[in-house]
Amino acid sequence: MGATLPRSRRDTVRRRLLAWYRRERRDLPWRRDADPYRVWLSETMLQQTRVDTVVPYYERFLARFPDLGALAAADEEDVLRLWAGLGYYARARNLRRAAQIVVREHGGALPRDADALAALPGVGRYTAGALRSIAFKQPAAIVDGNVRRVLSRLCAAPRLPDADAWRLAGELVPARAPDEFNQALMELGALVCTPRNPACPRCPVAAACEARASGEPEAFPAPARKSRARTVHAVAGVLVRRGRVLLLRRPSRGLLGGLWEIPNVSDQSAAALSALVRERSGLRVAAGEPVGAVRHLFSHIDLRLGLVRLEDRGGRLSPAERGDARLCTRAELGELPLSRLMKKALAEAGLHS
Ligand code: SF4
Repeated sequence: MGATLPRSRRDTVRRRLLAWYRRERRDLPWRRDADPYRVWLSETMLQQTRVDTVVPYYERFLARFPDLGALAAADEEDVLRLWAGLGYYARARNLRRAAQIVVREHGGALPRDADALAALPGVGRYTAGALRSIAFKQPAAIVDGNVRRVLSRLCAAPRLPDADAWRLAGELVPARAPDEFNQALMELGALVCTPRNPACPRCPVAAACEARASGEPEAFPAPARKSRARTVHAVAGVLVRRGRVLLLRRPSRGLLGGLWEIPNVSDQSAAALSALVRERSGLRVAAGEPVGAVRHLFSHIDLRLGLVRLEDRGGRLSPAERGDARLCTRAELGELPLSRLMKKALAEAGLHS
């Protein structure tokens, strides 16, 4: 038997948390309209990403793709451009693919049942739970980092395996107002029951919290051992021909898939960089002097990217590669989907503001 919350405490938590949420909730753009498409978009953007960061992205995305049909009909590149800088780009590609499936197989309306939702690309247990509870008002559980921490503290459980967290969240979510309850649980974790210095004296569920009773709420959950980011060294080349910069498009699957970048290789070899440019664009180059370096942290990679100038040795963009290799003006750079890393690298080379 794992962590438990007795029925009487569950009732207290539900009642007090809902009352608190109705008083204190933040006015966030996706809370003004529980349209399933908007819930889906916001919950997808909020994964691994802070609320403040998401707000402007969410608003720009909705202005461009106001409904699921518009997203399904969009070019992948347009979708990626609006996502550029938000990270975890597979989320954007999956949203568009899933929108196309919803149009094709579900008449353009997001399905309401768990199995059909889970069959959509990018819709995991969390997103399915958020859609079912927030958009469709079903008593479905959701567990994210905030919810897991609150549950772990309510039960004073130093470790809360996935199965226990989902079971507890499922036992707690009420049949009435599951949308507000799930958002309340996440809001409590974001605003009150924070990882450091939880504000127990003003917490609405303090009376039902075992971690608080223990006198050391912050000790729950026990800190996870962090795996250190692996350091990767790479080199990227800047080729400028008649004021235009050479960019290549990454394959559409994998890290940063579908985004544009200056040519780069992870083994730091000048010969490998020149060969890549030749193979991907048809242009002949030789690696020249260093023009700077940038460092970028991905979740598991600490990337050190050296930048070198590429000397132009002639050749034309090969017709076969033109779709994935471009010589761009500075104005065009602003219109292509570029990752944060590439914006940093181009700025370091004096080509992007
Ligand atoms: Fe978190 Fe403290 Fe509230 Fe318990 S009482 S849920 S530890 S803020």
